[in-house]
Amino acid sequence: MRWHIQGLGSLGCLWAARFAAAQQPVRLILRNPAALARYQKIGRVRLSDANQQHTQSYPISAQLPTHHEPISRLLLACKAYDATAAIAQVAHRLNQDSLVVLLQNGLGSQQAVQALIPNTRCIVASSTEGAYLTEPFHSVFAGQGEIWLGSLERHPEPEGLINNCRDAQIPCTWTATIETTLWRKLAINCLINPLTVIHDCSNGALIAHADLINGVCTELHALLIAAQHSAAADDLQQQVWQVINKTASNSSSMRQDVHNKRRTEINYITGFACAQSIALECRTPALHALHAQLQKALSMRGLPTR
Ligand code: NAP
Repeated sequence: MRWHIQGLGSLGCLWAARFAAAQQPVRLILRNPAALARYQKIGRVRLSDANQQHTQSYPISAQLPTHHEPISRLLLACKAYDATAAIAQVAHRLNQDSLVVLLQNGLGSQQAVQALIPNTRCIVASSTEGAYLTEPFHSVFAGQGEIWLGSLERHPEPEGLINNCRDAQIPCTWTATIETTLWRKLAINCLINPLTVIHDCSNGALIAHADLINGVCTELHALLIAAQHSAAADDLQQQVWQVINKTASNSSSMRQDVHNKRRTEINYITGFACAQSIALECRTPALHALHAQLQKALSMRGLPTR
């Protein structure tokens, strides 16, 4: 089965390289002729190990979204705020047998993408793998992890998908409860991401804000229950502190974006949680205050606040 990969950043290159290494057919989709020309000048995707001691090159074919080739399996590997524009570019190449895997962090973009392609099955992912780019189309596989795949519409597991990924050393597991996984991750990100940006600190330094974290956590707990994801609310506070302790020396993804002067995915993290709390009439004043403080911190650094 041929994979098309749209979004050739850190994760897109990581997935593309592994499919190519396993000799599975793969094509890259670049957003416009200028981006395609930049790729063709280099002509390959590169992947290095965490210590950058070994680098492999994969000369993978690339094309534009307007290409005529039908798409049977698409990996959408752009940021959440680019997802709907990206899918709109290739929607005409998808059909009811196509499968689209969405790698975006947070929540909200997945539902928006599915709404644009109602006749195509979307699979959503929650990935704990870590990668970054050293230069265009050269990804460093910084952290091993796992990838949970599932359907927001409770479709059954698509035949062959998991084996296809595992054959390419992509550690995917199917879960019938992906919504719980995504909501729990969202709740944890709602605490760690904004506070590490506001205080410009590593995850471990958040211990200094324990009272605030526990207060917002209580609101998020109520929100998860109001959203009918009570399984995600179980032991939330304990889980938040476990993640903070386990990743104490890490810089959160949002803080990294800010340091790199890149737009953040705020709208799909605290923005999504705040919108849900309003829609569900579940009062979360401390969460709203945190979101507003984050917007202020982004604005002071000249970054978009949504
Ligand atoms: P990234 O490095 O920023 O890569 C995204 C890529 O998508 C960029 O190359 C971007 O091109 C491209 N893109 C945007 N719109 C496009 C379009 N219409 N057509 C084709 N390409 C398009 O992002 P990432 O780190 O791989 O992350 C992808 C998602 O995975 C995010 O939601 C992130 O939060 C999540 N995630 C990442 C990691 C990680 O370790 N990196 C871990 C877990 C989850 P331009 O550069 O030209 O905009």
